[in-house]
Amino acid sequence: MPNEVKSLNDECGVFGVWGVEGPAAKVAYSGLHALQHRGQEGAGILAIDANKRLNRYRGQGLLGAIFDDPHAFDRLHGNAALGHIRYATAGSHTINNVQPFMFENTETHFALSHNGNLTNADTLKEMLRKTGTIFQSDSDSEIFGDLIEISNQDTFLGRIKEAANQMHGGFAYVLLSPDAMYAVCDPNGLRPLVVGRRKDGAVVICSETCALDQVQAEYVRDVQPGEVVIVDDSGIKIDHFTEDTELTICSMEYVYFARPDSVIHGVSVHEARKRMGALVARENPTKADVVIGVPNSSLSAAMGYAIESGIPYEMGLIKNQYVARTFIEPTQERRERGVSMKLSVVKSVIKDKDVILVDDSIVRGTTSRFIVKMLKDAGAKSVHVRIASPDLKYPCFYGIDIQKPSELIGANHSVEEIKDIIEADSLKYLSVEGLIEAIDLDCDNQYHGLCTAYFDGKYPTPLYDYQETYDAEAKRLHLYEEDEVNG
Ligand code: AMP
Repeated sequence: MPNEVKSLNDECGVFGVWGVEGPAAKVAYSGLHALQHRGQEGAGILAIDANKRLNRYRGQGLLGAIFDDPHAFDRLHGNAALGHIRYATAGSHTINNVQPFMFENTETHFALSHNGNLTNADTLKEMLRKTGTIFQSDSDSEIFGDLIEISNQDTFLGRIKEAANQMHGGFAYVLLSPDAMYAVCDPNGLRPLVVGRRKDGAVVICSETCALDQVQAEYVRDVQPGEVVIVDDSGIKIDHFTEDTELTICSMEYVYFARPDSVIHGVSVHEARKRMGALVARENPTKADVVIGVPNSSLSAAMGYAIESGIPYEMGLIKNQYVARTFIEPTQERRERGVSMKLSVVKSVIKDKDVILVDDSIVRGTTSRFIVKMLKDAGAKSVHVRIASPDLKYPCFYGIDIQKPSELIGANHSVEEIKDIIEADSLKYLSVEGLIEAIDLDCDNQYHGLCTAYFDGKYPTPLYDYQETYDAEAKRLHLYEEDEVNG
């Protein structure tokens, strides 16, 4: 049976630390704060105490609120800890899905945190069910732990490698056992994972370098595709579960998802976004009075646009930092209300001006439509929308929350139609070549080191359980046809 298009475990943030002089859980807490942008639906921290027992505290909502409980850290003793920040789409909110997940049925007990999405999760779950596995959550993330538990390999590392070889899709895992911490990255390195070291010798493995900075850890290396990084009291060792690898890291990490102060595979996210903005300006020269960005994710791109075009950069939109995210609201009406509560216009900047509005992406079109209307209501003479990434037409199955083609405005409408829907005076996207040039990864494989499937349909791996559903959707939406208008 084809997999339903669903989103249970998506972007997320992971953080592990080994060998802290003092309580590791507190370090994990600090680190997770820097990863809060990767999810706001839940968070958890697990620590291993002197008796090698796993103790966990987790909850739903924002990290600060969850760990505001005066007893939250009571049982989180020990020099090693593992944390997780959860991103979930509407409908999957239950505490059972909040990580880290614990596995205590074997001699070697362990815990894991995951970022990504497996493309063969249903097949693996079916196989696991037949072996008698009882799942502790709805999340695909636990599959790795379940596979490790049923493996017959002699060593824990052997079991990790065997299990990793059975999984497909995008996965960045950090595992913690009483003897070691492990990082495991899928053969395409679709999700970011980075290793750092603190002055006290503690080793950190986490989703983004901004979390290394937060806990005063120096960058050591990015976890490479197909690698297993092993950290124990003797230091850091590198192993592989497969040599059949090809780096295609998710380009949406650079476009939207990662924090601008992070560096992924040697590329500063902020600088990459500035170049995206500059290139969309160069590709589409336009006369205007002022350039504004949509706070916060497109401010870097808007700066790049302004510098390249010579048009003054201004603060035309203000974000209310205290309104929750709108993207995953279950209904369109709630999403629209959310956008209007989240953003407001600085009228003096906009009134009687020809405005360039830079945003990082258009998914459903809710944000752009609302902002264009707000700017026009504030007296803008014209609004030219410039998107610092290409037209988003294809779903992602590797862990970014854009899985339903029916929800993607770019999959259902031409650029000209989208321009009319969002009521902009003009609309231009960055080209795929421009995106690749802007990110500029030092990688010469056929994908330039990037997954750009959402924009060009070039999935770097087979889609396994999703293929049938995707084919049916794609056929319905004529995704395979060359779209002349979109160029
Ligand atoms: P929409 O309003 O649906 O067109 O969403 C576009 C806005 O959502 C953009 O301004 C992005 O900053 C943001 N965005 C893009 N991709 C995602 C994602 N996967 N999850 C949450 N927000 C996103």
